[in-house]
Amino acid sequence: METDMETPLLPSSASDASEPPPRHQGGTVIAIIGSGDFSRSLAIRLVASGFRVVVGSRDPNRVAAGLFPDGVELRSHREAVSSAERVVFAAVYPEHYSTLLGMREQLVGKVLVDVSNATEMNSERSNAEKLAELFPESRVVKGFNVISAWALQAGAHDGSKQVLICSDCSVSKSSVVQLARRLGFSPVDLGGLCSSRDIEEAPLLLFPSWGAPILATFLLFLFFYGYNFLRRILLPYLDHGENNFYQLPLVAVNQTLPAVALITLALVYLPGLLAAVLQLSRGTKYKRFPGWLDFWLCRRKHLGLLSFLCAALHAVYSMCLTLRRAAGYTLLNAAYHQVKAGVENSWVEKMVWRSDLYLSCGILGFGVLSLLAVTSLPSVGNALNWREFTFVQSGLGYAALTLSVMHTLFFGWDFTFSAEAYPYYLPPVYLLALILPCVVLVGRILLALPCLAFRLAKIRRGWESARHRPPNNRKEADPPRNFGDV
Ligand code: NAP
Repeated sequence: METDMETPLLPSSASDASEPPPRHQGGTVIAIIGSGDFSRSLAIRLVASGFRVVVGSRDPNRVAAGLFPDGVELRSHREAVSSAERVVFAAVYPEHYSTLLGMREQLVGKVLVDVSNATEMNSERSNAEKLAELFPESRVVKGFNVISAWALQAGAHDGSKQVLICSDCSVSKSSVVQLARRLGFSPVDLGGLCSSRDIEEAPLLLFPSWGAPILATFLLFLFFYGYNFLRRILLPYLDHGENNFYQLPLVAVNQTLPAVALITLALVYLPGLLAAVLQLSRGTKYKRFPGWLDFWLCRRKHLGLLSFLCAALHAVYSMCLTLRRAAGYTLLNAAYHQVKAGVENSWVEKMVWRSDLYLSCGILGFGVLSLLAVTSLPSVGNALNWREFTFVQSGLGYAALTLSVMHTLFFGWDFTFSAEAYPYYLPPVYLLALILPCVVLVGRILLALPCLAFRLAKIRRGWESARHRPPNNRKEADPPRNFGDV
């Protein structure tokens, strides 16, 4: 049987995926069982790529004329499967697989592609494994389920390009890999059919890596918004009836967003520092980090993008501050008081410098953060080599953090040292938000000290303190790591 399967799916001239086969009558015949949305889109794509397509339907006469492109033949299930040279797509729902049992004989030795998706997570067996059990003499390959009917039709110019493929028959799998390439997709070989459950469940996942970063950002937002509400709105109201509730929709949000942006950006760089400290203290890079640190390290990109989102919203909110009716009234009131007080010139040089400096640092910090966000796009990141990527993500990342800290420090200016900045003994939000980023920056500076940086670089190149300690300094508990170590 296996030798049968070694027949190439495509004619030998077609083995180069960049060269489509001739579109006249000679194309390889591929069968699709089912005449629904997926079948139609797949047929369109196959025909456009030079294949001949036979669609198998329970009732071919009922399928509306014009639904499939010219050249696609509509036949009964049995006729379609018999006319397929090697590959048959099962484009029906898994609950209907049993209706195909009558074609077992025609399907012997053929590549049966299961395109179905899971309807629930963590099922015991995948649809593809069930199909393989129903058709033990066919070569079941899982694939194409992560591509929507729309993406199939949209062609190589639009939509998702990755097709996850797995099968226990490597020859059949490579045929489908080749076919996927011919259709303009990027096949990803995920090994044996045991991976089919993961492939089937892939479309059910909803931003699987984003949960914890989003939750962390949301909790930070809630904390700072609540703190702001208490300090600037609720306590003044309860204390002396000052009505600041109008600040809830805009001003309070705009004071919360930069704090969240700054802390989430610090959270991007904190796990890297912790990892470096662990490596320094252990004297090796060959011990695994604790699970929580591994998890955190893997979520840095998400935290960075959420920080960018908060910073972008802060920028937009800040630009709209002067458009508010409240800002107009405040300005008019200030002007009235100034005229009444007989002040002709309200220019305060120190305040001019303060506002220009904090705005400039904010704009630069946001610019650098935008660059980081852009390079986290796979298409841009893939165009950079490792050194460039590290420079952008680490070097420019710390630059963005430093500029954001400076932006906040200039905002706080010397008001931070006045008693009015601490109503009800509560420090301002920006001061709280500065703690973690400053810890991260100080930690980074400490790690850049030559004595630590040199040792860390050595450890990261594979040096281990336990192996390189003089023999008389080694503890009993330090066993030789391999034969050469004695
Ligand atoms: P669909 O539009 O409902 O088509 C399913 C086809 O199955 C029908 O057209 C029908 O064809 C056949 N069928 C219906 N009842 C049947 C029965 N009792 N026994 C045998 N055949 C029956 O569904 P679809 O969207 O094309 O999806 C088909 C498969 O592709 C599913 O497994 C789905 O998970 C998978 N998929 C779909 C998409 C998508 O975007 N649509 C994306 C990825 C994967 P006949 O009447 O001609 O027999």
